[in-house]
This record gives sequence, C-alpha cells and structure tokens, in this order.
Amino acid sequence: MNSGRIEKIVIVGGGTAGWMSAAFLSKALPNVKITLVESSDIPTIGVGEATIATFTGFTSFLNMKESEWMPVCNGSYKYAIRFNDWYAKGQHYWHPFEALAYARSQLHLGQHWYRKFLSGPRTDRQSFYKDCFLSVGLCEENKILKSPASEGNVHTYTLAAGGTSVELRVPYAYHFDAGLFGEFLKIKIGKPNGVIQIIDDVTNVNRDEHGFIKSLDTKGGITLEGDLFVDCTGFRALLIDKTLGEPFDSYSDTLFVDRAIALRVPFNDVRMEMHPYTTTTALSAGWVWNIPVTKRVGTGYVYCSRFLEPGAAEAEFRRHVGEERTKGLETRHINISKVGKYRNTWVKNCVAIGLSSGFLEPLESTSLHFVFVGVAKLAEAILEGHFNNAVVASYNRFITQMMEEARDFIAIHYVLTTREDTPFWRAVKYDTKIPDSLADYLMKCKQAFPNGPANNILFKESSWMCILMGMNYLAGELAYMNIPRQELEAQLNVLKQLQTLRQKLSVGAMQHYDYLSQLGEVA
Ligand SMILES: Cc1cc2nc3c(=O)[nH]c(=O)nc-3n(C[C@H](O)[C@H](O)[C@H](O)COP(=O)(O)OP(=O)(O)OC[C@H]3O[C@@H](n4cnc5c(N)ncnc54)[C@H](O)[C@@H]3O)c2cc1C
Repeated sequence: MNSGRIEKIVIVGGGTAGWMSAAFLSKALPNVKITLVESSDIPTIGVGEATIATFTGFTSFLNMKESEWMPVCNGSYKYAIRFNDWYAKGQHYWHPFEALAYARSQLHLGQHWYRKFLSGPRTDRQSFYKDCFLSVGLCEENKILKSPASEGNVHTYTLAAGGTSVELRVPYAYHFDAGLFGEFLKIKIGKPNGVIQIIDDVTNVNRDEHGFIKSLDTKGGITLEGDLFVDCTGFRALLIDKTLGEPFDSYSDTLFVDRAIALRVPFNDVRMEMHPYTTTTALSAGWVWNIPVTKRVGTGYVYCSRFLEPGAAEAEFRRHVGEERTKGLETRHINISKVGKYRNTWVKNCVAIGLSSGFLEPLESTSLHFVFVGVAKLAEAILEGHFNNAVVASYNRFITQMMEEARDFIAIHYVLTTREDTPFWRAVKYDTKIPDSLADYLMKCKQAFPNGPANNILFKESSWMCILMGMNYLAGELAYMNIPRQELEAQLNVLKQLQTLRQKLSVGAMQHYDYLSQLGEVA
C-alpha cells in the first residue's frame, strides 16, 4: 500500500456486486486504476432479479438509458410487491414504492384514510392500497404509468388540497436478469472506463505488518497489488472473513429462512403474466417469489431447513408453480449460508460489498440496493484519494444502521402473522427473536398511530404503514384525534381526486407487456 493514497483498487469477484462496484467506481473515480479479478470456476449466485426504487439512482448515475440496457438485460418494470397469504391464507396486501402524500396536514393520506376507516362503516382493509396509491390499481390491471413520452424515473401528479396543492410521486424499480445486467455493466461501462478484468482465482492474500492487505496472488501466478481491496466474493467472503477474520453478527434468530430453490419458467400467457410488480406467496415453511422478466418468469422458494427437507420443499414448490408447467425444468438449490452481516464491512483497507458483506433474506429485494449504497458511500468516502479511521467508522455505522433497519422491517412481515397452520409459522409467531429496536417500535404502534420509526434510512412511514395495515397491526387511537373539519374535508377530497386521477390514468396507461414490446423483444 502506498503512503495512504488510493491509486489502485482491486475488486475480487465478478458477480453483480463486483461489476456494479467496478462500473460505479470507474465513473466516480476516473483517475484510480481499477482491476477486477474473477474466477471462471466459482459460479456466481445466479439469482437477484428484483430491485427497489432507489436503484434508478444507480442506473441514472451511470447514464444508463432504459431503451439500451433493459432489452439486453430482459428488464421489466416494478412498481410494488404483492404479498399473498402472509397475514392469513387468502388475504393479500401491497407494498408500493409510492409514498403516501402529506397534503397541508400533519397526517399523511394513509392516516386520514385509516381514521375514516375506523370511524365509518368498515370497508375491507385491502381497499386501503387502491384508495391511497395510484400505482396499486394500475398494477392490478397490469398497466404502467411509464409511457414513451414520460421522462425521468418518478411520475409526479399534482392535486388540489384546500387552497394549496399536493404532489403525488410514483417512483419505480426494475426486474432484470442479474447475469445479463452484470455483463452489460462489464462490456458497456466497466471496460470502456478502463477497468482491467482478470479471469483467475485468488489463492493467497499478502498482508503488511499492520494487517493491511498488500497484494493478492492468483492461481495463474499473477500478483495484484492495491491500495484498497473490494471483497465481492459472495458468501465466501474471502477477504473480510477468511483473511481479516471479521466477526459475523447473525440475524438467524430473527429471520429464519436459510435455503432457496430457484427456477426459470417460460410464460404460459406472457401478456397476462407480465406483472409490473413482484409477487411473494407464503407457503408452508417460507415463501415463493415470482418475478417476470421479459423472456421468462424467475421464481423460487425461500424456506427454512429446520422445518423442511430439500426434497419436500421442491415438491411443494413444484406443486405451487404447477406440476405440468415445471415438468422437465431443472431447479437450483441454494444454501443461504449466512443471514446477518459482518460487524464491520470496511476493515483496514478492505471493503466488503454484496453477499460478502452480509445478507438479509430477499423478501424486500434489498440486496442490490445495499450494493449500490455500499459502493456509492465508498466512492464518496475516498473521493479525495485517501481515508482515515473516522471515515471508516462512519461508513460502518451507516451500513449497520441500514441493514438493521431493513432486518426489522422484514421481520414485521413474519412476526405479526396470524398463521399457525405449520410448525414454521408457529415458530415464526412464537419463537422469533424481536430485536430491541423493533420491540420498542411495535409497542409504540399499539399505543399511538405509527408514523414509521424516526429517521429510518430506507423504509419510511408509507412502507411501514403498508405492511402494518396488511398485518392488521395499527392502533385505534387515531379515531379520536381532533382534526379541524376543514382539514378533514380537504384530505378526503384529495383521496377522492386521487381515485378520479387513477381512473383517468388507467384509460391512457399502457399494458406493461405492450410498453416492453416497444422497447425490445419480449417472449
Ligand atoms: C435466493 C436469493 C434470492 C435473491 N433475490 C434477490 C432479489 O430479488 N433482489 C436483490 O436485490 N438481491 C437478491 N439476492 C441477492 C443477490 O443475488 C446478490 O446480492 C447479488 O447477486 C450479488 O451477489 P455477489 O456478486 O455479491 O456474489 P456472487 O454472485 O456469489 O459472486 C461472487 C463472485 O466472486 C467470485 N469469487 C469467489 N471467490 C473467488 C476467488 N477466490 N477468486 C476469484 N473470484 C472469486 C466468483 O467467481 C463470483 O464471480 C438474492 C439472493 C438469494 C440467495
């Protein structure tokens, strides 16, 4: 390592995290020499196809035009996640990316809706989603707000609210083939920006007298020197764990699933199945994802091995997708060896990004967001060409807070269930370790109307309300809150306008399939 200056960065690993890091760093730090070494023998994880709305920040930073990268990467749009059978069998709820708007009120529209719900004749809780969000009704019709004329990756609409106005913001995310996405980043961004790709296995790591990594030796006999090393070696965590021995803080007492079975299924009816949202359906010992990309459906069963053997899990999964439909299709079994995170993901001159840094289960599609944030924060931290202990400590605090918050958020999808129909669901309901941070919040929810945990980095109050509504865990005290009549009228009027706008938009909105067909070839 040269006198503290970062002139050479070596990335180990060529999965989605490796190439996302290479592409991002090569754009953010054009004067730094970047080498990426990846094994041709150690496969990438091969899943990870759904993103969240923040991800458009990554593609925008790299000036990636949707018309260029989406057709090549089988990209489709995602406006929400639909959760089936989580609270109780036969019930579903939504988590759209759209935020609940505040319209001249200390309460957001969702809170006004809930107040009315509590005090009026009880409607179905599930109508909350369609009533308060533009995107949910459109999702149900397989339509998207994106049109050939729309620009940017947030749709905005303005409604009148008692002498002022309220802005509705509808962002979106993507589904894509993760392997093709990594390939695109390599060929179109990383390599043209000067990233050197070496295909070889790292077999030895050399450290200096302070424990910093000096260089890596490869099977092919190359020694790669660097000032900073980015560990993107997936669950192997070659540098952060095997070399530096950073302790791993497991979340497996809180999040139980630890295995997955992945499968790619051809469409039966592409137009019908090209949903602009991810679907998750709770099964006997976990849940199944359904992610339509343009050429196929990506699906998989994430389950807990304490309650289900791989063979039984595969049988249940195939029954769920359809025995006939999955006949002859090969599944891939994945061991989710670590649920949790390394205590510090930046240690000495090594930063772990991607699965090597830690993993929460994929229920809220957060991993690629963590990759984006991990590399963006890293680039920001070393922009001036060096780093110090304060920068490293701040980075580590931020990553830990972000992942702990996401862990808590994912946990509420489970622990508030009413299901007790299998040993897994009974264990989820009664044996889950609730982190203190979440216990405090859930207690507050029972006492007062929740507004999302204060200062959350990623999942804000809209997101929390969507899940808490779906899991029927909202306090009733809002019904008694004194709100001036004029304010109430204005808010209810906004909700009415939202419905009128949704109906109007629905008439002009394109089917997801049709829009994608215009961008490129669809199955
Ligand atoms: C079941 C499941 C579902 C998921 N779904 C989602 C989702 O919907 N959305 C989402 O955001 N994320 C999801 N993820 C997470 C997502 O798959 C990963 O975050 C993403 O693919 C990044 O993986 P990676 O690059 O860190 O690791 P990997 O893909 O495992 O890549 C590791 C790389 O390191 C290389 N390597 C390892 N050891 C060496 C060595 N000694 N020398 C050289 N190279 C080496 C390998 O060859 C490979 O290139 C999911 C994960 C799982 C397990």
